[in-house]
Amino acid sequence: MPSLSDAISDAGRGARATVVILGTGGTIAGTSARAGDNVGYTAAQRSVQDLLAAVPALAAPGAPAIEAEQLAQLDSKDMDHATWLALAQRVQLVLARPEVAGVVITHGTDTLEETAWWLHSVLATPKPVVLTAAMRPATALAADGPQNLLDAVTVAATPGVQGVLAVLAGQVFGALGLRKAHTYRPDAFTAGDGGPIAVVEEGRLRPFRPWPVAAGRGAAALPADPQAWPWVEIVASHAGARGDGVRALVAAGVRGLVVAATGNGTVHRELEAALAQAQAAGVVVWRSTRCADGVLIGAVAEAAGAAAALSPWQARVALMLSLMG
Ligand code: ASP
Repeated sequence: MPSLSDAISDAGRGARATVVILGTGGTIAGTSARAGDNVGYTAAQRSVQDLLAAVPALAAPGAPAIEAEQLAQLDSKDMDHATWLALAQRVQLVLARPEVAGVVITHGTDTLEETAWWLHSVLATPKPVVLTAAMRPATALAADGPQNLLDAVTVAATPGVQGVLAVLAGQVFGALGLRKAHTYRPDAFTAGDGGPIAVVEEGRLRPFRPWPVAAGRGAAALPADPQAWPWVEIVASHAGARGDGVRALVAAGVRGLVVAATGNGTVHRELEAALAQAQAAGVVVWRSTRCADGVLIGAVAEAAGAAAALSPWQARVALMLSLMG
């Protein structure tokens, strides 16, 4: 695989490759009053231009041309559909420019797997869209953001790379199966049984498997008003589960429900009864597993369809898109 500097001259079809960085906030842009404080910080404080300034290698000769835009500035726990729509539209517009080799999105870690699945499902592009983040704020003694940003740009500028990807702690993941699996460690992400698609080592990509393909409907096909997008909620099956929550959601007008089922798609009988009533009332019910690894297997998987291999959080996105028609 070529290195970043090898990539620069040809990724832009003869011109210097351009990578567009879209900032959305997160811990990567977070600050804390004390440098040693890795958890008592405020996310989404620094601009994307400030994040770039912390990575001198991106201004060095041989680096790709960088354009940075602040698309949003939020803690990704508060990610919303309006920002998702704006992000998908902006990425699509930027990637249509021939000199742009790829896009990097700085994001929070909390909902990164959902945004990755959203973009994977919506965008149609042969160019890479690379999400990156950090587990330590920009003020930390050992901030992981600058290296992650550099690695993400490397991936976005490397010819032949495609798909919606996440780059953290030297690992490159596809959107499918992506999960934040740890609350604190810098290598917080996993991709279940599949593992990472590649690693980035000293500016060089070492791929293990083919790149994923983003073959969605395109941002232009999304309904323009996110407030009107189908309401889909997640309900979990657990010991002592009750049907009242589902009945309340149905009464409130929910259009779809994803059940975070136990094990291989099993659901508590109380919840199951309420879900059957919800289905009879026209609510679409999908099943996925609350297990951290593995997918639904056998007849349950056939019944679950697209959700069988998705986490409940990614299945919610898939069901919402499916209900958009
Ligand atoms: N709450 C932060 C966010 O998701 C956490 C992080 O970025 O690590 O924006």
